Amino acid sequence: MLPRAKKQFGQHFLTDRHYIDRIVTAIAPKTEDVMIEIGPGPGALTAPLLEKLSHLHAVEIDRDLGAALRTRFSPEKFSLHEQDVLAFDFAVLASRFRCVGNLPYNISTPFLFHLGEFADELIDATFMLQKEVVDRMVAGPGTPDYGRLSVMLQYRFSMARLFVVPPGAFTPPPKVDSAIVHMTPLPANRPTADDNVRFAAMVTAGFGQRRKTLGNTLKPFISATQISACDIDPARRAETLSVTEFIRLSNVKV
Ligand code: SAM
Repeated sequence: MLPRAKKQFGQHFLTDRHYIDRIVTAIAPKTEDVMIEIGPGPGALTAPLLEKLSHLHAVEIDRDLGAALRTRFSPEKFSLHEQDVLAFDFAVLASRFRCVGNLPYNISTPFLFHLGEFADELIDATFMLQKEVVDRMVAGPGTPDYGRLSVMLQYRFSMARLFVVPPGAFTPPPKVDSAIVHMTPLPANRPTADDNVRFAAMVTAGFGQRRKTLGNTLKPFISATQISACDIDPARRAETLSVTEFIRLSNVKV
């Protein structure tokens, strides 16, 4: 029997076998993978993953669910980290790792930023998130969904939306559609900002007032003349700028 879902932990449990199978197929676990599942809950993904893996790590904040998982899966095969994933140090895995999970939607954006700090060690990630968030993650410039989340994640990851999962696949059903996203860190020779903090601050400022021109929103960082010198019209808005154009602007020496 399913445990009672706790709202504060964003619990919606996957119960549709068809989608569980599709997600596990998309993850394609291989025996020796070092894999960590975020929010295993009652174990809808955990059990089929453990059929393929020799070992699985998991991070779960809910102690009641944690106790049930410990009873169900042996410690030789399953290492449970009972804590808030936003404070989880992925370095304890001491290896390059794969990350998967049906994420609690209330912490998805801070979690993605937290995981980004460990991107050098990440092999890939497959997550279920609110479809609206996945659409923003993968959106390209000039589209309505393109924003700070798109730029900050596409700076570090290549991403693909795999498929949509309807509310009826969960108990209790969420109010919105969900989607599966696959993320792979970009290689070391990707375009990079000289200063990641400045880059992030400029992206935030650019999208802070979406309707304003770059000349206006980026004034605290760079002049209109310097923007033009990058071959970028200062009359453009942030939502039209590619990730590499943002990098070019942030790398201007001031
Ligand atoms: N994987 C299960 C499934 O698909 O049925 C549960 C998914 S449910 C959407 C999200 C899970 O993440 C819950 O088990 C919840 O307790 C857990 N969770 C919520 N916030 C968390 C946090 N900050 N850190 C770790 N786990 C968290």
